[in-house]
Amino acid sequence: MTPEEFTIPDFAELQRLMQRHCHTADVQHALKGDRIDISGLAALLSPAAENLLPQLAARSARITARRFGRTIQIYAPLYLSNFCINRCAYCGFSAGNKIDRRVLTLEEAEQEAMILLGRGFKHILLVAGEAPARLGVDYLAELATRLCNRFAAISIEVQPLEEDEYARLFAAGITSVAVYQETYDRGIYAQVHHAGKKCDFDYRLATPARAAAAGMREVGIGALLGLADWRLDGLAMGMHIAWLRKHYWRAALTVSFPRLRPAEGGFQPLVKVNERMLTQMIFALRIFDPDVGLLLSTREEARFRDGMVGLGPTRYSAGSCTAPGGYAHPELTGEQFSVGDHRSMQEVCADICQKGYDPVRKDWDATFQIKDSGAAMSAPAL
Ligand code: SF4
Repeated sequence: MTPEEFTIPDFAELQRLMQRHCHTADVQHALKGDRIDISGLAALLSPAAENLLPQLAARSARITARRFGRTIQIYAPLYLSNFCINRCAYCGFSAGNKIDRRVLTLEEAEQEAMILLGRGFKHILLVAGEAPARLGVDYLAELATRLCNRFAAISIEVQPLEEDEYARLFAAGITSVAVYQETYDRGIYAQVHHAGKKCDFDYRLATPARAAAAGMREVGIGALLGLADWRLDGLAMGMHIAWLRKHYWRAALTVSFPRLRPAEGGFQPLVKVNERMLTQMIFALRIFDPDVGLLLSTREEARFRDGMVGLGPTRYSAGSCTAPGGYAHPELTGEQFSVGDHRSMQEVCADICQKGYDPVRKDWDATFQIKDSGAAMSAPAL
């Protein structure tokens, strides 16, 4: 049972909160403290922090090194299906787009997973458009059962599920759930989600809590950058993380910062989020929550990802294909978006090593999973 629902203030209120803490002195104060509260996060995300970006970077790098060492975890997405019942204006899988649609059979999905295993991946993220009639909990549970002894970690990024469904998937071997709110701005959310269950802002907002309540070892949240004010979405994510920490201390938490990429449908970003803005957001959230895992996917270019090694992010995808079946058949189309970093996993790892960091393909083993009436105890990552 969820103890209480997470709610988010409207963006006008978040804007007022930021304006109260947008002076250089507020930023300097936030950079001094051991732990910062939501006011400190507002200061670090505010325009006043732009001139102090080197100081934010240094602080973020120090905290990251202390908590995570000189490591970057590596994973790959495995796209299972590009069917979707929702109409999200920004997504290549949107129900209105005319793309080649397919859902992998379990055998095809297994084959894709084996290709990734052969390339050295131990952590895979199963991704699918939201079409429960074509790809539901039975499919995911069966696939997880087939794969869980071969991978150290299996995560999912699929349609939001109920708590008992997450518990079933956890028992089948899935340990991590990612559900991105896309934007915490209700007005923009309604503007870009035209049809389908995803239009229910509050159901989606409550999903990370359902996954954590079901005992998932890790829960990931995120905002799609390019939709709404990135500073306020950053502030909202900080609030969401703090709430999840308070109520579900056993779950490890991650945050993603996907920036909009070109996709079928030709959607143009509603707001500009450049690399400098993205780095400020990453540094601010790292300083706000030293323990949170920060993901930087292949949406970003190799140059930028290389430059961010050691400064805050702790997990990189690599060698990604976003079309279902695309690892076995690279000629397939129907991808969700075009990636920005086209390097293989070996090339990404070599570049991480060159910077003096260790690419980690396995930081967890199911052996550590202590099952307690369907809920998992958290255990330290190796
Ligand atoms: S963002 Fe997700 S829910 Fe929306 S169209 Fe794409 S796959 Fe479907």
